[in-house]
Amino acid sequence: MSKDKYEKIHDQIDPQEQDHQPGVESEMSPQPIYDDENYKGAGKLEGKVALITGGDSGIGRAVAIAYAKEGAHIAIAYLDEHEDADKTIEAVKAYGAEAQKFATDVSQVENCHQLVVDVIAEFGQLNVLVNNAGKQFPTEDFLDISPEQLHETFETNIYSMFYLSQAALPHLSKGDSIINTSSVTAYRGSPALIDYSSTKGAITSFTRSLAANVSEQGIRVNSVAPGPIWTPLIPATFDAEKSGKQGEDTPLERRGQPAELAPAYVYLASTDSTYVTGQAIHVNGGDFITS
Ligand code: NAD
Repeated sequence: MSKDKYEKIHDQIDPQEQDHQPGVESEMSPQPIYDDENYKGAGKLEGKVALITGGDSGIGRAVAIAYAKEGAHIAIAYLDEHEDADKTIEAVKAYGAEAQKFATDVSQVENCHQLVVDVIAEFGQLNVLVNNAGKQFPTEDFLDISPEQLHETFETNIYSMFYLSQAALPHLSKGDSIINTSSVTAYRGSPALIDYSSTKGAITSFTRSLAANVSEQGIRVNSVAPGPIWTPLIPATFDAEKSGKQGEDTPLERRGQPAELAPAYVYLASTDSTYVTGQAIHVNGGDFITS
């Protein structure tokens, strides 16, 4: 049986690492697959405006592109990877979307509120919030997790979701949605990512609780829980050996590509999922999740 492009790229990835976080997509080799030419838009998000945090690269970039193919206009937020952000904006515009980038630190409450103000000023509306920015600091020894690391991980990964959702909600109306990026580590645990996986567990509970809280307004809140995906986060946070082997232990025996995540985010933002809220979609290469 011949290999498809996702199997082929898995084999082509050599061990590599980056010495800074956030990682930079343009420094990865090979580049992740963030736009699948077989994915054709069908106007599922026509006229909507989406704000995607961590939208410059990785999963966020692929979501931005799929949303643009579906007719949405795109705001991306990111920390400081300006070159990656420019590439995403260019790709999104090529599909006819209006697009704007916002460099800001979403771990800070005032920045999150300002971000939503800026998005409304630019686009006049907001319909889909994708809370996707995240950080991780692999730490083998639990005793080495410093208070500073713990704060930074929680502030970036989960506090930002509270801040941004609070800022966005007054602008959302019936049919709009919030989608949070969780992780397989929330469900199966991760011995060297105890603080990170705890934020992802919190995101699961946050998603369920906020979904119940805003259901009367017709706003849906869901999450996507990725498994091992080839994004800048991986070479930026794992050593070369670990990033080289990423995904080999999944039932599909390979890592995933950002483009393989994007359709789940489209589903959750569109009218295809009108009866789905408070849920997680597991895109993880086959790990069986029971709760
Ligand atoms: P990525 O490096 O492309 O994305 C991480 C993004 O977070 C970057 O765009 C960065 O700008 C942003 N970010 C980090 N700190 C920030 C801050 N303080 N303020 C603003 N933005 C900030 O990597 P990715 O893998 O696409 O990550 C996206 C999400 O997917 C993260 O939440 C991550 O935890 C989650 N995830 C990734 C994997 C994987 O294997 N890659 C697996 C499970 C979950």
